[in-house]
Amino acid sequence: MPKQITLAKFAGFCYGVKRAVETVKKLKAENPDKNVSVLGELIHNTDVIKELEELGIRTLKDIPEHGDGICVVRSHGESPEVIEKIKNAGFTPVDLTCPDVKKVQQKAVELAKDGYYLVIVGKSEHPEVIAIKANAKLWSDKVVVATSVEQLKPFETEIKTHKKTGVVVQTTQRITTLNEIVEYLTSISKELHIANTICQSTAMRQSEAKELAKENDLVIVVGSKKSANTTHLAEILKDITSTIHIENDTELDNYKDLIEKAQKIGITAGASTPQNIIEKVIKKIEKGE
Ligand code: SF4
Repeated sequence: MPKQITLAKFAGFCYGVKRAVETVKKLKAENPDKNVSVLGELIHNTDVIKELEELGIRTLKDIPEHGDGICVVRSHGESPEVIEKIKNAGFTPVDLTCPDVKKVQQKAVELAKDGYYLVIVGKSEHPEVIAIKANAKLWSDKVVVATSVEQLKPFETEIKTHKKTGVVVQTTQRITTLNEIVEYLTSISKELHIANTICQSTAMRQSEAKELAKENDLVIVVGSKKSANTTHLAEILKDITSTIHIENDTELDNYKDLIEKAQKIGITAGASTPQNIIEKVIKKIEKGE
């Protein structure tokens, strides 16, 4: 019997990533004689980064002492200090921070300015979180980043004695992580303000994928292992059904037995996974290679 393969509706590029990739290409097309660079990888996908390089768009690991042309701030956002450094090096910065990430930065600043003890629910080493924290820190020292209650415990006394606590969340976090932290903060805070800043695209992708997992023997999550939203997606689905996380169709070879046994296969993908990679995965399964 042929396998039943279902592709999620919200698989692949979200609007923030699509906007960033399209705008960078347009910038280069409109400024063929200027250098166009991106600070950090525009998205977590090596094929896309290669394609940009071929178009003459460079990826910068760090800000050089001297630069020229355009330097793009990617969808994760940056701190005002970094944007200033880009300018001082001689670049013209173009800010492509996703509007949903901007909202988190603004909310974090608002809470910090209003005297809240700010808790950022997110991974401290993630570029989006680094930028949210840096923006808030311009207004207050009472800023902490955590993805678990354990990470907040050392700050319990400070939070307990502070007059009010505010919470914002990294756009791609799991809702269960936010819930656990909110439950804990409710028990120790005098006053608590929660801004659920998980982006709509992530929320819809996660909730659709959960349904997909309930209806299939196996779910395949396609996308970079460096991508926060893709990894979270795979973590969520593993609790519901047999799940594999692959970066491309070649990796399917590592899971031949699992794929052979499954009759109904669901496929979803992270926000930085291009359509052609998803299509290659589907074709390979259909061909039974
Ligand atoms: S995952 Fe959400 S916040 Fe991140 S770029 Fe996409 S739409 Fe924007």
